[in-house]
Amino acid sequence: MPVYRVVLNSRPGKDAVPVPEHFRLEETTLAPDLQDGDVLVQTLYLSVDPYMRCRMNEDTGADYMTPWQVSECVDGGGVGVVESSRCSTFIEGDVVTSFNWPWQTQAVMKGSGLQKVDPQLADGHLSYFLGAIGLTGLTALLGVREKGHVIKGANQTMVVSGAAGACGSIAGQIGRLDGCVRVVGICGSNQKCKVLVEDLGFSAAINYRQEDVPVKLKECCPDGVDVYFDNVGGEISDKMNKGGHVILCGQISQYNKDVPYPPPLSKETRETLQMRNITRERFIVLNYMSKADAALFELSQCIKSGQIKVMETVSNGIENLGDAFCSMMKGGNIGKQIIKI
Ligand code: NAP
Repeated sequence: MPVYRVVLNSRPGKDAVPVPEHFRLEETTLAPDLQDGDVLVQTLYLSVDPYMRCRMNEDTGADYMTPWQVSECVDGGGVGVVESSRCSTFIEGDVVTSFNWPWQTQAVMKGSGLQKVDPQLADGHLSYFLGAIGLTGLTALLGVREKGHVIKGANQTMVVSGAAGACGSIAGQIGRLDGCVRVVGICGSNQKCKVLVEDLGFSAAINYRQEDVPVKLKECCPDGVDVYFDNVGGEISDKMNKGGHVILCGQISQYNKDVPYPPPLSKETRETLQMRNITRERFIVLNYMSKADAALFELSQCIKSGQIKVMETVSNGIENLGDAFCSMMKGGNIGKQIIKI
């Protein structure tokens, strides 16, 4: 069976919007024999994520991320099945994941870089290990818990930007389950707004492309905003309450710009945050991996019981990876963008 891989064809300028032509599909070959410690895996699902935009640059701007190299195979989150193994921890048929899965239909990987997962946790939906029971679910749950200060019975309002995406859609549901009386999502289409309110239990949703966000926030958050789960960056509303908390999860509106991360706030905004005693702390999920197993189990239980609903946008075929990544960066996804191989 031929093996295909996706390589980085060229780098976009730091200020440029990525296009599918920045990636290239190639046929490749696998080493004929496994070495000690190696595992042959069949790729089932691959993930495209906003942080990958930084990996397209020569300098990612973050010490925990290495740049992709031109003409080399791209990698990221993946899930697959073991076909053969010379690593004592894996046997044929095991379902495994990695944050550094090559964008390749089949691959020989070091067993030390793979984690075994229990398909039961996802009721067989193996793609969930890249989203709701994977990195983005963890980011949502731990981001809210570590930085959100949500307290049951405290009549809090949470606002989520990028609300219909992988992290945002779960973060809003966690906010509701943890006790926020009102959860308002900001996103980029009327269809997404409808999904947030009708399917995911958000109290209200605002389409930032069509509506006046400050005016709508005032309407939707009559008691102000206590917690802001920020995936996007940009202005912080003057509706934030005293003692509120901004969870600085991501700044996707800035990823096609040559600016440092996180981009500095205006003097006026900084003063407002200070005067109102509002925290705005950066959250990096990789710093909380000691809490991952318990959090993934909790996410799995909430999904099985129907308390958390999972949305996915699935593209088919390794040849569509570049398109899927570029589409996700422009808002083409509802929930987690997945590529089924
Ligand atoms: P996602 O939300 O599923 O997909 C990205 C979404 O961003 C798009 O669907 C689009 O939705 C929105 N977007 C793109 N450009 C925008 C702009 N200029 N203004 C407003 N919205 C824009 O992706 P994700 O994986 O869940 O990531 C969401 C955020 O979390 C990203 O900032 C990412 O870097 C961050 N993140 C952080 C961590 C961490 O450890 N801190 C971990 C994972 C992810 P619309 O249609 O609504 O525009």
